[in-house]
Amino acid sequence: MTATFDSTFVESEERRDLRAAVRALGSRYGLEYSLACGKEHRPADELWREAGKLGFLGVNLPAAYGGGGAGIQELALVLEELGASGCPLLMLVVTPAICGSIISRFGTPEQKQQWLPGFADGTRRMAFGITEPDAGSNAHRLTTTARRDGSDWLLTGRKVFISGVDAADATLIVGRMEDARTGKLKPALFIVPRETPGFEYRPIEMELQMPERQFQLFLDDVRLPADALVGDEDAGLLQLFAGLNPERIMAAAYSLGMSRLALDRAVDYAKRRTVWDTPIGAHQGLAHPLAQIRIELELAKLMMQKAAFLYDAGDDFGAGEAANMAKYAGAEVAVRAVDQAVQTLGGNGLATEYGLAALITGARVGRIAPVSREMILNFVAQHTLGLPKSY
Ligand SMILES: Cc1cc2nc3c(=O)[nH]c(=O)nc-3n(C[C@H](O)[C@H](O)[C@H](O)COP(=O)(O)OP(=O)(O)OC[C@H]3O[C@@H](n4cnc5c(N)ncnc54)[C@H](O)[C@@H]3O)c2cc1C
Repeated sequence: MTATFDSTFVESEERRDLRAAVRALGSRYGLEYSLACGKEHRPADELWREAGKLGFLGVNLPAAYGGGGAGIQELALVLEELGASGCPLLMLVVTPAICGSIISRFGTPEQKQQWLPGFADGTRRMAFGITEPDAGSNAHRLTTTARRDGSDWLLTGRKVFISGVDAADATLIVGRMEDARTGKLKPALFIVPRETPGFEYRPIEMELQMPERQFQLFLDDVRLPADALVGDEDAGLLQLFAGLNPERIMAAAYSLGMSRLALDRAVDYAKRRTVWDTPIGAHQGLAHPLAQIRIELELAKLMMQKAAFLYDAGDDFGAGEAANMAKYAGAEVAVRAVDQAVQTLGGNGLATEYGLAALITGARVGRIAPVSREMILNFVAQHTLGLPKSY
């Protein structure tokens, strides 16, 4: 596939059609559906399945494995549009974007055949587990370790905040293994099916009203066959990097969809609600913050599109800086958009019926995951500005 960028800043007809089709699906589900799933602690299976049948979940995956043969630009568009409809699918960040990209680029032919068609048609899902309780933002501290036992692997460790494990057929676990030559530990990625003995997952109670739950994982000498290792032994670090840019671009799309939803609802309300003689949207105290949010949203979206274009064009290095910036900008605008939308609705901003209050914690996720605001600022300070590292 050759990556194309809408350099005239007018979206191609194909992408506009995709946007409209996703929007049509999203508007049949909407915020109420998403919040109800969250309240009942159940994954958004109906929406996931339907999106899979329509080909939306695998737009970025290779056509040879049932995907759409397009790129992260299109997958981000799908997530943004579902978010703007009120029903973002967090697992799009994980299954097709992270796991799909890693397996497409580094998986063995058997692994591709086993997983990618199911990712594309929505029949299989994969979670992604890197965060550990004692490592946090410092991936160098990961202690989940694989050791060989004959041709098998035995994987032991703990993970925390892993999304969607209950609905996923397997979790892609980032661990470490001993380098046969140097004896040092190096990253390695393993596919761990959910029902594997020794693999335990427990939900973490979160103040988030979203369909996807977060889990603590306990891996206690989990026995895995040789082919559970993704690709070959020496590609762990590259695999990890291959997943990071799509993850950040999709996190930006998640935040931008939510920002659009909040802004649309605020604007609509501000046009209709009259307390004095004019609708409240005429007061600059409300109008200007909404206008600022619109500007910031457009800026963040341009950065997301730049990052996605660079990634699709194969420029992983260039995409890295842009993906970090897009993820940062998206999270910041989402927090502001939701806060201002709540303010615009006054008391109704906190009323369950309007659904905005539930987004307050949802918008905050973007500042923390998959990488925190501070770690992005560290990245830009060190890599873009060349400032010394403090940690
Ligand atoms: C809703 C949700 C879903 C998630 N889903 C997944 C998932 O599917 N898979 C997965 O692997 N993980 C997932 N995570 C975990 C997420 O990626 C981590 O929470 C995140 O990377 C931060 O790690 P931490 O929580 O351990 O915070 P810590 O690393 O403990 O950081 C705490 C605070 O310290 C700051 N800090 C740390 N180091 C520095 C430094 N050097 N300079 C400045 N500030 C610093 C951080 O920015 C943060 O503000 C999810 C988290 C949430 C909230």
